[in-house]
Amino acid sequence: MRKPIMARIVMKFGGTSVGDVDRIRNVAAHVKREVDAGHQVAVVVSAMSGETNRLVGLARDVARLHDAREYDVVVSAGEQVSVGLLAMALQDIGVAARSWLGWQISVQTSDVHGAARIEAIEPEEMEAQFGEGRVAVIAGFQGVSSANRITTLGRGGSDTSAVAIAAALKADRCDIYTDVDGVYTTDPRMVPAAKKMDRVSYEEMLEMASLGAKVLQTRSVELAMAHNVRLQVRSSFDAPEASANGNDIVGTLICDEDEIMETEIVSGIAYARNEAKVTLREVADRPGIAASIFGPLADAAVNVDMIVQNMSADGKTTDVTFTVSQDELERTLGVLKSATTDLTFADLQAAPDMAKISIVGVGMRSHAGVAQKMFQVLAEKGINIHVISTSEIKVSVLIDVDYVELAVRALHAAYGLDDDLAG
Ligand code: ASP
Ligand code: MG
Repeated sequence: MRKPIMARIVMKFGGTSVGDVDRIRNVAAHVKREVDAGHQVAVVVSAMSGETNRLVGLARDVARLHDAREYDVVVSAGEQVSVGLLAMALQDIGVAARSWLGWQISVQTSDVHGAARIEAIEPEEMEAQFGEGRVAVIAGFQGVSSANRITTLGRGGSDTSAVAIAAALKADRCDIYTDVDGVYTTDPRMVPAAKKMDRVSYEEMLEMASLGAKVLQTRSVELAMAHNVRLQVRSSFDAPEASANGNDIVGTLICDEDEIMETEIVSGIAYARNEAKVTLREVADRPGIAASIFGPLADAAVNVDMIVQNMSADGKTTDVTFTVSQDELERTLGVLKSATTDLTFADLQAAPDMAKISIVGVGMRSHAGVAQKMFQVLAEKGINIHVISTSEIKVSVLIDVDYVELAVRALHAAYGLDDDLAG
């Protein structure tokens, strides 16, 4: 007699999880566990670790200015290898499986090559596989445009593939298997007292992902939030049989705020080292000036983050400060110096070695004094704050990069996030 169908699950494995043949076998064992439990399973995989970088390097070497459509043909190839290998490994342990490339599903995307967005996914073919008791092993990171060309979703995009497929299949859960066992209150390599979170809301995770936590591609969290996909981050290095009979949630569940009973005021602390600060001194204080600065930057596709404009003392000129990522600093300065708008300034200053530290928590909405505490803690450590920005559920500050560790550790302790059990 066939077992009743328990749930429909999408399992996603990242590059390190499929990094070599032994690890691919280990992934197959994780998949088998869910199949044996009676679940319908679709698996999404990345390229073997290092592979996409290698392919990107080849594309750059062959021609610096290459056709973006051909770039996608090249860099999407890593996933083709891993789906085939995983399907073989599954068959080898008696699990019926077949591989699918993006265009075979099909995963339809926009035609922005290298950064395409998923527009539609047809679930019928995958559902037909389930009907025949087969696991669908799907290449992440790739899709097909309406012009019938291969596209890729941007680096780290297979998280987004997995969430989109889970949404299309109306899956009960999307499990992201990676090389860490969940989402932590902050980077555990920096703060040994960091705690794994059992649950975190979509909104908090979205802030943390875009503020520098590297566990998930930001876009994947946006999609999960929009489609209410319950996401779990867990480790692929756990023994595959470990969770066979126990709790389905062993890592961190990213879910709706309503599913979380007790929230901390600050749930997590994120940091990004790669920041640079740009200051324009004495720009004219009149309507249109911000547009004349940020318009040319937007046209050059420079991503501007924090922005402050000071009050002018004399009513004539003011200073404008903003941040960009370090890799874009040179380009930013070039654009501003050659801007053809009527932008004039007395001086253009750049400080490359900055970091952004952010505290995140939905509990901030209903508590006063959360930001003040952050400023106090940093003051006590003698850390100077260059720029501040806030939203409803986060406060970010820009500081000198040398103080990142000191700041993150102090804040982690001050908001009561330290794990008492850690050494
Ligand atoms: N293989 C792609 C990359 O390295 C996609 C992914 O890993 O999510 O960016
Ligand atoms: Mg990844």
